Amino acid sequence: MFPETGLASLAVAPAATAVFTAVLTEGPLSRVSLARRLGLSSAAVTKAARPLIDTGYLHELAATERTGPGAGRPASPLAVRADREFFVGVKITADELIGVVCDLRAAVRATARRPLTAPDVEAVLTDLGQLVDGLLDGPGDYRVRTRRLGLAISGDVDRTTGLVRYSPFLRWRNVPLGQRAARITGLAVTVENDVKALTAAEHWFGEGVGAESFALVTVGTGIGCGLVVHGRLVSGSHGVAGEIGHLAVDANGPSCHCGGRGCVEAIAGTQAIVRQARERTGRPELTIDAAVALARAGDERVAAVFARAGNAIGSGIAAVANLVGPARIVVSGEGLAAYDLFEAHIRTGFERQAFGAAAQCPLSIRPLPFEEWARGAAAVSIQSLVVP
Ligand SMILES: [Zn+2]
Repeated sequence: MFPETGLASLAVAPAATAVFTAVLTEGPLSRVSLARRLGLSSAAVTKAARPLIDTGYLHELAATERTGPGAGRPASPLAVRADREFFVGVKITADELIGVVCDLRAAVRATARRPLTAPDVEAVLTDLGQLVDGLLDGPGDYRVRTRRLGLAISGDVDRTTGLVRYSPFLRWRNVPLGQRAARITGLAVTVENDVKALTAAEHWFGEGVGAESFALVTVGTGIGCGLVVHGRLVSGSHGVAGEIGHLAVDANGPSCHCGGRGCVEAIAGTQAIVRQARERTGRPELTIDAAVALARAGDERVAAVFARAGNAIGSGIAAVANLVGPARIVVSGEGLAAYDLFEAHIRTGFERQAFGAAAQCPLSIRPLPFEEWARGAAAVSIQSLVVP
């Protein structure tokens, strides 16, 4: 139906990349407003958009917007054709694969889950191949218009090469996951750290759209943070940036698996909460779900554990606001299923430690379904289509 563009990134000229990114993340936009926004001439916008229209990625909406009285013909806004191409995103956890098919605007069209047979690389790749086949050959007939797969995994990941340097949950070291997944699935593969992938989704398709800087903080087994500064995801010179889970917020606090003491994660990570709830109640069998239920039922000993955790998270977030000054901060993650137990304490901890005007930084605190992580993986894959 449209000419094939091959597997290279879609837009090679910088102007085309800028036009496509703006329409994708903030569109529909008229050529006039694109020109104004990007500092390009109208002719340059028209030239940049032409191949994107010819290949079916952009289309013109019916003219609705007059540029002014007597200003000639009305402008036709450019919009993305969301079903021009589909993307698979998969989040790899210690015991399960969570997969989605997303359209070009990162809207989820299909989802699937698959328990891992075993945590070794061979088994995970076999499970991955079957999950992807199931998603692409199921209802929706996505395979014909899907060429890319994004993978998200916690740990130390080299996005440029698709190498997983270290995955603590799977105990992998130096696994060329991108290459191997490409061989199994026949798709072009991106691999990204899961928190960074989620940050990419918020940056392009969520609350971070249009923000020069913002931070995403995730609460769950680990406490993670992705930072966008000057419109770019911060990776850090050593691949470590925004590790708020290992900021020390209590010099006399519990020791952390990282070797430090009083880290946010040692107080507010899921395991830390379970350990403290067991100690305070004298019930060694307590699970996180049981701890949440007790706190909700008014058990003050367990509620105090969540209060302490929320305060620690708030202090960590304040440190991010004081150092980087993001325009907004989103707090999310599977741990926030217990949102009601955390929210007030996160806000209190934040307001106490944020310095001056940094305390005005808006915090969005909301739970996050697990499929959102897989959507983040797909968002990175979409970015690889757009930005070389
Ligand atoms: Zn630590």
